[in-house]
Amino acid sequence: MSIVIQGVAKTFTGRRGTAPVAALHPVDLEVAETELVVVVGPSGSGKSTLLRVIAGLEAPERGTVRIGARDVTAMPPGARDVALVSQEPALFPHLRIADNIGFGERARGTSRDEVRRKVTDAADALGIGAALERRPHELSGGERQRVALARALVREPAAFLMDEPLSALDAELRLRMRIEIKDLQRRLGVSLLYVTHDQHEALALGDRVAVLDAGHLLQIAPPRELYERPGSAFVARFIGALPMNLLPSGDAGDQVLGVRPERVRTAPADRGRVTGRVLTVEPAGEGCLAHIAVPGAKERVLARLPWPEAPEVGAETGLDWDDGDVHRFSGADGRRTG
Ligand code: ADP
Repeated sequence: MSIVIQGVAKTFTGRRGTAPVAALHPVDLEVAETELVVVVGPSGSGKSTLLRVIAGLEAPERGTVRIGARDVTAMPPGARDVALVSQEPALFPHLRIADNIGFGERARGTSRDEVRRKVTDAADALGIGAALERRPHELSGGERQRVALARALVREPAAFLMDEPLSALDAELRLRMRIEIKDLQRRLGVSLLYVTHDQHEALALGDRVAVLDAGHLLQIAPPRELYERPGSAFVARFIGALPMNLLPSGDAGDQVLGVRPERVRTAPADRGRVTGRVLTVEPAGEGCLAHIAVPGAKERVLARLPWPEAPEVGAETGLDWDDGDVHRFSGADGRRTG
């Protein structure tokens, strides 16, 4: 079922003497039925708060939360029919994996045979069918996370919420499991709202990706659009393997010109669009990453170059790019202007 939130705002009124924290400014977000939406943002941007409001663990100050046709804003977590999977799954250490997965169903009064069937199905779907007789401490971190996912599956919830479910795992396992999560979501045809701070993961997983910064939802778009047409300088720097280069432009320096490091070429000194001094050249697999100090630019300009174009450290080099690769932002508020 769909997840629809409208105008959801949340301020934490800290303890006495501490200033209130606006964790979410009014946020609108919709996850269509069968859609996978990823919310990505730096630490402290409000991602967990958003999920906790949807799950019913945190009351919003304003706004509504709907799951399918139901307004669940005032409902307790248990009545919302959503499953939340978080970074560190809380498993019962003394219970077998099978009982951990089936615990909620048993508590709901489902028959023993029916629970066994559901647990076996969910465990098989997640490749932990052989671990059902073991205890949590006998499993790897990745397997424990699969148990948490299986436990969510068994409930057959109307919608799934996941809060950084892979961030405790090593890089290789993260890669494998994110593919599995996407496959699973497709097969089940459910809506999933997935939170991560990792923009790689966000782009790889999401049908659409929502970028959150300091409680503001800046942009929501399919991954490719987010990369190709970022709506603001913040999104341009946050999304992509490398942050977009930003250079002052316009007569009064009131505009910002953006170009991605992978679109920058070198040119003879004074023959490019800008000229700068090469500070470092980092090897980066099949090519290199040159750091160039350009007068007037606040940060060093990065250029992702094939090895034959690697400039000499200390040399002056021109930098060039195609008109079609230029992004323009307002110098005042960072919004895209062209
Ligand atoms: P994220 O998940 O993106 O890291 P959070 O949603 O956890 O961000 O937090 C958003 C902001 O709200 C942060 O500034 C955080 O310190 C604050 N915050 C979160 N939970 C509480 C709380 N229970 N009390 C006070 N402030 C909180």
